Amino acid sequence: MATQAISVDTLPSYNPATGETVENIPRTQPEELPVILARAQTAQQKWRQTSIADRCALLDRLKQAMLAARNELAAIVVRESGKPHVEALFSDVFVSLDTAAYYSSNLSKLLASERVPHHSSAAKLKSGRLFYEPLGIIGIISSWNYPLAIPMGQIITAVAAGNGVICKTSDFTPKCGAMIQEMFAKAGFPDSLVNIVQGGAEIGQALIDAGPDKILFTGSVATGKRVAEACARNLTPSVLELGGKDAMLVLADANLDIASSAALWGSFTNCGQVCLSVERLFVERSASEKFLALCIEKTKTLRLGPGNDTATDVGPLIRPQHVQRMKDLLADATSRGARILLGGNARPDLGPCFFEPTVIADVDSSMRLFQEETFGPILTVQTVANADDAIRAANDSPFALAASVWTSDNERGRQIAAHIRAGAVMVNDAISYFAIAEAPHGGCNASGWGRTHGRTGFLEMVQPKYVDVDGLAGKEKPWWYHYNDSLTHAADDFLSYEFGGLSAKLKYARGALKTFFRDHGFKKRPS
Ligand code: NAD
Repeated sequence: MATQAISVDTLPSYNPATGETVENIPRTQPEELPVILARAQTAQQKWRQTSIADRCALLDRLKQAMLAARNELAAIVVRESGKPHVEALFSDVFVSLDTAAYYSSNLSKLLASERVPHHSSAAKLKSGRLFYEPLGIIGIISSWNYPLAIPMGQIITAVAAGNGVICKTSDFTPKCGAMIQEMFAKAGFPDSLVNIVQGGAEIGQALIDAGPDKILFTGSVATGKRVAEACARNLTPSVLELGGKDAMLVLADANLDIASSAALWGSFTNCGQVCLSVERLFVERSASEKFLALCIEKTKTLRLGPGNDTATDVGPLIRPQHVQRMKDLLADATSRGARILLGGNARPDLGPCFFEPTVIADVDSSMRLFQEETFGPILTVQTVANADDAIRAANDSPFALAASVWTSDNERGRQIAAHIRAGAVMVNDAISYFAIAEAPHGGCNASGWGRTHGRTGFLEMVQPKYVDVDGLAGKEKPWWYHYNDSLTHAADDFLSYEFGGLSAKLKYARGALKTFFRDHGFKKRPS
């Protein structure tokens, strides 16, 4: 039988549920990046002049195109990432649609110039305004776990702000990248404004080296460090959305039935391959036994299977080597005293990437399961004495992305949130803030820097420009040379007036005012 030759210049679109390569997608070559950048720059020069109304109309057309193709988009996300179809709809497709909807209705508000009121007397007669201009070309490097939601959310924000985009989608999900390109073309965006490039590390580096105006990177800590180094060489600013090790704090007064369902979903959704997964669960001792029993009972009801079966709750991991990693993490934990209460096994009978949803207790900070990002379907529990211990344990991590607090007392939840080092804390929910367009997302320490989403994320895509118009254009400023004793005294009076108390203000007002009406005598002074 003749075998079909596969070009080395393609990326396999691999289905983790079956282990099959379904299709091959053409790779971008590193030397193409400077050419793609130059074309994007030309397109962006025109795009930045496009009115906000026209931009919003195109974003609305993008939304319509994605809505019409929603099941096709979800099916490709399922095929390449393995997640259940309903998760692809609720996460990837929802976030893509909602971001387009948000910017098409809010862009003029977000880009409106703002008056900058001045507090100091010296600046009162100047009128200041802040304008938000596009940065130019935004380079986006994305992960595979939300292959539509993450790149789409970032691309839409970038173009809404007037930028062009070159986005390297993950080499694990090349078909999703191709679909993104297709959606922008279908919506009628200008040629070369949004460019999807396909490949691995070599294309990521070539994208950075080509010199875009900013890099938005989503991925692991190890790659994030390489990206930061490469950006630093060209002084390219970056946003780094890196890993998480999110804590879930279950207080004794929480509704344990609700909290246990949330613990399952927070740990197992997308097979635990979420930067915001619940990866360290701390439960107060008095609630621990009941809570764990509920988690075990409910985990037993979950169906493991392919994402295209509508009855599947938990799909496969992304690649077979990730199955081995789960085994290694669990072996390390049990060798140090942790107890697997449920699951803990690979399921080769279902396919090469399946691993059972697992509940493991008595995990502590000496174990890899608490130190490293798990990125798999493992609900990892530690019992703590009280809320203070839970806070201490939650903060004992190099990661600081997000966390959740579970309590029937919202005020107590808010107070505990104030003590947790994280970019976001949810009280009585987990993960879902990522789908709120107004909520900023991002962390600090090993979880990276900068933000995506919300106004804070939008501001990462623009250059703020301050424009100041002088109200006394016909007068020389007092500090413009011909310094002398009298100006020195006047400056001294001015400082006493400006920063002294009421009596100083009365005493020095005249001297300070004089400063503003000083005659420099430029024409009189001999040269
Ligand atoms: P990864 O670091 O392996 O890859 C991320 C992207 O970087 C991919 O497109 C990859 O091809 C590219 N890349 C790899 N080496 C590169 C290099 N040297 N230079 C430039 N680009 C390079 O991460 P992943 O496995 O795709 O994603 C999983 C990780 O992403 C997890 O750590 C997860 O927590 C994190 N993540 C974070 C967020 C967040 O918002 N904070 C969201 C999703 C995923």
